[in-house]
Amino acid sequence: MTQENPGAPLLDAIAAQQHQIIQCQFPNPVCGPGQALVRVRLAGDVPAWVSAQAARNTDGTILGRDIVGVIAEVSSDAPAGVRERLRRARVVCSPHIACGLCDMCRAGVSQHCREGGTMGTMGVPGSMAETVAVPWRNLTIVPDGMPDEVALLAGPLARALHAARMIRMEGKVYVTVLGDNLAALLAVQTIARLNATVRLLGWRPEAFGRAERWGVQHRHADEVGRRRDQTVVVDCVGSSRSLDLALGMLRPRGTLILAAEPAPGATPDLTPVVRGELEVLGASHGSVADALPLLVSGQIDTTGLIEVRTRPSEAPRLLSRGELLYVAVEF
Ligand SMILES: [Zn+2]
Repeated sequence: MTQENPGAPLLDAIAAQQHQIIQCQFPNPVCGPGQALVRVRLAGDVPAWVSAQAARNTDGTILGRDIVGVIAEVSSDAPAGVRERLRRARVVCSPHIACGLCDMCRAGVSQHCREGGTMGTMGVPGSMAETVAVPWRNLTIVPDGMPDEVALLAGPLARALHAARMIRMEGKVYVTVLGDNLAALLAVQTIARLNATVRLLGWRPEAFGRAERWGVQHRHADEVGRRRDQTVVVDCVGSSRSLDLALGMLRPRGTLILAAEPAPGATPDLTPVVRGELEVLGASHGSVADALPLLVSGQIDTTGLIEVRTRPSEAPRLLSRGELLYVAVEF
C-alpha cells in the first residue's frame, strides 16, 4: 500500500520552476534490516543545494539532508542494547548512507563507501518527509535541553568541521574562508577556535555583521588583492569566480580545501596549481556525532542561521529562494 509522500509537493514545486513537472509516489518507509524509523520533527537543508538536487533527482527522490526526530522503531536485528538506548530517543542523523560491506567500509572509511549515497540525492530518500527509514548506525542522540533548531544544524556543522580538520589549522599564516553561505559561516567559526588569523571573504554584507559579532576578521572579496600570501583557503562556494580567487590568493605550496562541490560548468584556471605547486583537498562528509559537542558547549553560535522555519505547504516557495542560508521545515 502506498500513500502520497509528504515530501513530494516540495519536489513538484521546485521541479516545476525548472519546467519539469515530476509526479511521484512513495511507499510508507519500512524499517529494514539495520534501520530505524524516525518520526521527523524538523527537517532542513540549504535552499541552493536543494534546488541543485531537485534538478538532478530525475527519479523523484525526496529532498533534504538534515533531520531532528524521534525514534519510532528500531530493526529487530539491532543489538538489544542499541534498541533500548534508542527507544523513543530524540536523534539527529548523518546523511551519508554506507553499505557497511565494501572494501572502504571495512577499512573504516565508510564516507567513501562504494555503494553509498547521500540522503536527498538520486536514489537515497531525503529528510523532508513525516517519517524516514535510516541506518541506526547513522543516528546520534540529542542531549536533553538542546532546542531542535540547534540540533538540526549538527549536519551542516559536521560538514564544516570535516573541512576544517582536513589539515592542521593551528599556526598557519594566513587562513581565508571564502563564501557567505551557511558552510562558510560555520567553517570560519570552527577554524577561528584553532587559528586567530582566519578571515571571512564574501560578497554579501549580511555575512560581515555576523563575523563582526563573532570577533572574526572579514573583508569584501572584491577588495582583496591576489597577493599569493595565504597558506590555506577554504572555498565554500565552488564557482569559477571563487575558485579563481582562491587559487590567486594562495602562497606557493599553499593548500586549497574545496568544501563545496564545484558548480556545473565551473572552469577555474588551474595554472596556479602547477606553478605554485598547490595542494588541493576535497572535503565531503562529516559526522554529526563529532559536531554535537561543539553545539552543546556553545562554541559555535547558531543564532539566526536558520533564516526560515516553516510548514511543508510553504516550504517549496522558500526552498526555491537560493539566497536564504537555511530553511527548516516542521513535520
Ligand atoms: Zn560500503
